Amino acid sequence: MATYFGHYMNPEPLNVDPSEINKFAALAERWWDPHGEFKPLHEINPLRLNYIDRRAPLSGKRVLDVGCGGGLLSEAMAQRGANVLGIDMGDAPLAVARLHQHESKIAVDYQKITAEQLAQQQPASFDTVTCMEMLEHVPNPTSVVVACAALVKPGGQVFFSTLNRNPRAFVFAILGAEYLLNLLPKGTHEYRKFIKPSELDRWCRAAHLTLRELTGMTYNPFTQRYRLGYDVAVNYLLHCQKSI
Ligand code: SAH
Repeated sequence: MATYFGHYMNPEPLNVDPSEINKFAALAERWWDPHGEFKPLHEINPLRLNYIDRRAPLSGKRVLDVGCGGGLLSEAMAQRGANVLGIDMGDAPLAVARLHQHESKIAVDYQKITAEQLAQQQPASFDTVTCMEMLEHVPNPTSVVVACAALVKPGGQVFFSTLNRNPRAFVFAILGAEYLLNLLPKGTHEYRKFIKPSELDRWCRAAHLTLRELTGMTYNPFTQRYRLGYDVAVNYLLHCQKSI
């Protein structure tokens, strides 16, 4: 009965892993501390912001940021003149994001909704969709890719970033970042959820998104700096475009 009732109320189970949501909720108040647990996101933010703005100029555009967390990229894109909607399924990061805009005076609309649900409500509504460091935290990343494709306007741009899956990614993203260098809290990432660029490209093509560029994001532990480049073995960004 309970199961039946559950199905009746919620015919499509949400593509959300509560343990992943809890991971980010537990740290949410530290989101805007540039030296805290989210330091790597602070460091890559200008890189990815400039990358997006260069390939799909943000000013005046309607932009959706899927899995926006505490709003680092959402706010930065709004500062460049975009009209940004940030969505996330974590109450705590959304609360932090909403509070932070009072401080920064940068207006972003934040909503608690899945990309799949928003795609039902507002299909083909956004010039650009960004989905950064989120696919590796959901039960069904393909479904998020399909939703992002449905949300973007024909001819619009979609940007994903995630972690590659190979021995080097395991060594750098998990052993190195979580255990040796303490760049990220232990348990942040699960290796089996990492996504090869070839897999992401296949899901994109199936959703009528054409690959425009694949770019690596590398961390140099000696200079302690990230940069964009050709090396996609660990972190990477993928830019694709919806067919017209
Ligand atoms: N995109 C942001 C935050 C990345 S952290 C940035 O790069 O700065 C990953 C975020 O994904 C967390 O805020 C988490 O709450 C969110 N998340 C996890 N599963 C989700 C889901 N199914 N739908 C929406 N957001 C989700």
